[in-house]
Amino acid sequence: MRFKKIYIEITNQCNLNCSFCAHTKRPLKMMSIDEFKNIIQQIKPYTNYIYLHVLGEPLMHPDLETFLQIAYENKLFVNLTSNATLLMQKKDILLSSRALRQINLSLHSFPHIPDYLKKTVQAGDELSEHGIYVSYRLWTLKDDLDLESKKTIKYLEEHYHLNIQRYKDSVKLKPHCFLSFDKEFLWPSMSHSFVSQKGTCQGWRHMCAILVDGSVVPCCLDANGQAVLGNLFETPFNDILVEHEDLLKDFQNHKLSLPLCQKCTYRKKFDKKIV
Ligand code: SF4
Ligand code: SF4
Repeated sequence: MRFKKIYIEITNQCNLNCSFCAHTKRPLKMMSIDEFKNIIQQIKPYTNYIYLHVLGEPLMHPDLETFLQIAYENKLFVNLTSNATLLMQKKDILLSSRALRQINLSLHSFPHIPDYLKKTVQAGDELSEHGIYVSYRLWTLKDDLDLESKKTIKYLEEHYHLNIQRYKDSVKLKPHCFLSFDKEFLWPSMSHSFVSQKGTCQGWRHMCAILVDGSVVPCCLDANGQAVLGNLFETPFNDILVEHEDLLKDFQNHKLSLPLCQKCTYRKKFDKKIV
């Protein structure tokens, strides 16, 4: 079994409090270097790409530079997702990493920080000119564009001398640098209504996630650990995979056996034929 990507939540702490966040109720924690090394040793036979994010702000982690170096030594490519508030402070660590392949910058956080957009785009330009893919995200769009999204788009249009007319999918701003759009999604939750037992997504077939306490969950949207399949600090990752072989077959056969998945609306993006 191989995953296209495995998410590793190096911290679930964040310096913002976005209205659209899943706001985890799990204890707040920073992953230790030993825990990260343990995870890498266990998962590296199963993927080439790790994404250092589920919830939380990965640039807050004091050992980020060490984690990037460990990933490089283990021949793993790294993607990061960040709210960009610490981008200027951590930019040199990112520029010196030989493992970092892409950074997604969630502009839709709209923090009240002076010159946020200017500083973010300045750092983004440096990173992309260095060969690191930069993807700016506006992922909380409603049917009509809100004021902050409009201002952001206008700023990017002026900076990149572009007329951005398509508000869906992705627009290339310059080499290695993109702006991606999406509508706000609903984080899956056991408190939501039942949707269907049929459908599929990338979960457990192409990706899985490891939360900061070592819990293995089927996808990066299980931000509150409501579909934990095991804990790789207690059970080897390989054993967790073997134990849940039937779950993989279920996803392949468009059958949703996990209660959380039966209440998830996000996976409708992947399967328009839900009945
Ligand atoms: S930046 Fe991300 S993790 Fe932080 S509050 Fe916003 S949505 Fe949540
Ligand atoms: S159905 Fe939803 S909760 Fe379940 S793995 Fe897919 S995206 Fe995640």
